[in-house]
Amino acid sequence: MKYKITRRDFLNGMAIATGTGLLTPAELFAQTSTGGQHVVYPPTLTGIRGNHLGSFETMHALAWGGQKPASHRKLDEHYDMVIVGAGVSGLAAAWFYQKTMGPDAKILLLDNHDDFGGHAKRNEFHHRGRMLLGVGGSVNVDTPSDWSEISKGLLDDLGIDIKAMIANTDEITLLSASDDNLLAFPGPKGHVKVRGKWSQLMLGLGDYESAVRALPLAATEQGKLVELLSGERDYLDDLSLSEKQAYIESVSYAQFLTKRVGLAEETISIFFPVPKLMFGPAGLRVSVMEAFYLGCPGVQGMDWLGKLAAQLLESQMTGSESLYFPDGNASLARLLVHKLIPAVAPDTIGFDDIAVSRFDYAALDQKTHSLRLRLNSTVVGLRETGEDVVTVDYVRDGKAVSVSGDHCVLACYNGAIPYICPQLPERQKEALGYGVKVPLVMTNVLIDNGRAFAKLGGGQVTCPNDPYVVVTTAPATTTGGHQPPRGPDDPMVIYMLGVPSVTSTGIETSHDLLKAARRNVYATTFNTYEQEVREQLQGLLGEHGFNHETDIKAITVNRWPHGYAYEYMSLDDPKWPKGQAPHELGRAQFGRISIANSDSEARAYLDAAIDAGWRAVAEQLAYTQRQG
Ligand SMILES: Cc1cc2nc3c(=O)[nH]c(=O)nc-3n(C[C@H](O)[C@H](O)[C@H](O)COP(=O)(O)OP(=O)(O)OC[C@H]3O[C@@H](n4cnc5c(N)ncnc54)[C@H](O)[C@@H]3O)c2cc1C
Repeated sequence: MKYKITRRDFLNGMAIATGTGLLTPAELFAQTSTGGQHVVYPPTLTGIRGNHLGSFETMHALAWGGQKPASHRKLDEHYDMVIVGAGVSGLAAAWFYQKTMGPDAKILLLDNHDDFGGHAKRNEFHHRGRMLLGVGGSVNVDTPSDWSEISKGLLDDLGIDIKAMIANTDEITLLSASDDNLLAFPGPKGHVKVRGKWSQLMLGLGDYESAVRALPLAATEQGKLVELLSGERDYLDDLSLSEKQAYIESVSYAQFLTKRVGLAEETISIFFPVPKLMFGPAGLRVSVMEAFYLGCPGVQGMDWLGKLAAQLLESQMTGSESLYFPDGNASLARLLVHKLIPAVAPDTIGFDDIAVSRFDYAALDQKTHSLRLRLNSTVVGLRETGEDVVTVDYVRDGKAVSVSGDHCVLACYNGAIPYICPQLPERQKEALGYGVKVPLVMTNVLIDNGRAFAKLGGGQVTCPNDPYVVVTTAPATTTGGHQPPRGPDDPMVIYMLGVPSVTSTGIETSHDLLKAARRNVYATTFNTYEQEVREQLQGLLGEHGFNHETDIKAITVNRWPHGYAYEYMSLDDPKWPKGQAPHELGRAQFGRISIANSDSEARAYLDAAIDAGWRAVAEQLAYTQRQG
């Protein structure tokens, strides 16, 4: 999910938490059952989700140890198109291909997870007779008016009613509706919270001085902050205009704050929640310029730069448009799957009831359907073979098998492609391995009732010094037929956005920080995540009667060690000539194989994933035409 101030808006093993320990099997069953029948329904699984156990081991064995099965049993399955990755990009590619080639086109989608959607997944809870939804990864449809005609066309194909989405979210009352948000800091007696419209206060709008004076900081630090937020001082007044420009592009914001503004290391954390939500742990490496694009203070007092800052921020604040399904972009992935395989939910209409419809996962991969979606399948090899077909090797349930296709679209991770497809040119493989996906952890916590959260007030709590940088509610919208909590007595889902912490000595590049954080995410156990969640929520809500031991009913940790697509950063990435950036070199077509996914656009957004899906399909359609 990405943030309001820019386009990115807003705000081991299985274990389910209760106050006294893990849930009993009966309680677990309550989360995963329907009609008295035991079924595994992926959206209702709790504990560690996202890149869950079982989804990554095969690929890691290949990437880290070069290990893969010696041979693959050939299945009697040939497809017109095989797509690797059933995230939004792969699903969109399937839709574009089917739309062009007709409903009889034989398509196979393979994904290494037990659920489809890639990052666009949902968490579904059932408690006290209500269904509660949470966002498992990707959150909002971000400013679709700016999208390409292709991406907008896909929204139309899916019947997505943008006006209704806006109205559905505006109409309903958030549990703790308020324009204010809270800045919160852990303290010995719970969190110290300071209320305010912080995104505006940070830019010197409103009574920023009183708000700053309420922060738990030494008076000298408060004084420096007040001066910074006033926007009246030019901290680079010893530099010429061109030197200033060079400075803001080449110096980190952290260094600017400590060296030029004179703030202590401990104080500057209050400016990093937004950079971290945008760049993950690499947010520590944003330049002054990038920080200013994200709404951080500091350049307002710098003559023409200050004016530019004001204009840019105004256009960002008025020009962005954030649309929500109650389960984030999972509903979009579900709409795609429903369109491709209607049998997954035969009674579902579409946009109006997608959020509440229950999918039949057994229908995803049926012999009788021309389009099949096969989960728990990790692709480990891909090659054009003599007979003008692509052979695709994959591992499922420990068995090594292969299928063939006329065409293949790789809608998986860029970093995985060189291992799957070692025959690509060396330069292309190097380019594919350049970006490091941004690790993130998004956790949903089912709470028995929303009373303490409502008393806390403020739709969003920003916690610069906690494991979870933002604590808020699941999107409260009626879109897709969903009924959000009607009031504080109803159960609710608290949504927590975490940026894995890494120690930075100041010399690490963004690539180093992202890799270190990824290792941390894989190494962190559910117990640690659970403890962090409990401590942070108790600190925030304890004074309002919250008791984590009795109020928390389930915790789902969506860990994304391979999260956002890498977006270039000015301190660590060169400026490449057009067409020469790693993502552009990496996505070159290779005969019957094309590359989709948001990595191939170097943009971590839905429309990038959709556009990439279309590009890859168009390349393959053109290839067929060329072959006559
Ligand atoms: C936590 C989080 C929040 C986000 N929030 C937003 C948001 O609010 N708005 C927005 O527009 N974007 C958001 N994004 C960006 C999001 O990544 C894109 O919008 C989009 O969903 C990416 O789709 P994709 O298909 O390119 O990649 P993915 O969703 O990553 O799908 C690729 C799929 O390929 C699978 N795969 C990889 N290797 C293999 C293999 N060898 N074999 C089989 N399968 C494989 C992967 O496991 C995955 O399921 C967010 C991302 C994250 C991680």
